[in-house]
Amino acid sequence: MTINPFNSINEVKKLAENRVHHNNNKCPSGYDIPKKERRPGTAGYRLCQHCKDLNAKARSKG
Ligand SMILES: [Zn+2]
Repeated sequence: MTINPFNSINEVKKLAENRVHHNNNKCPSGYDIPKKERRPGTAGYRLCQHCKDLNAKARSKG
């Protein structure tokens, strides 16, 4: 399911175009981010591809 968007404090170490945020609690990449490294919000980053796919799947299920 979708959750409030969050991002990793380590995203800043990536190239700007590779930075992403997450908003799905089933996202494997988001799940790998330790709680202490999570920051609420999108920080203006794109939505991660895993989250995008999971959200689309959830929507199509109705
Ligand atoms: Zn994600």
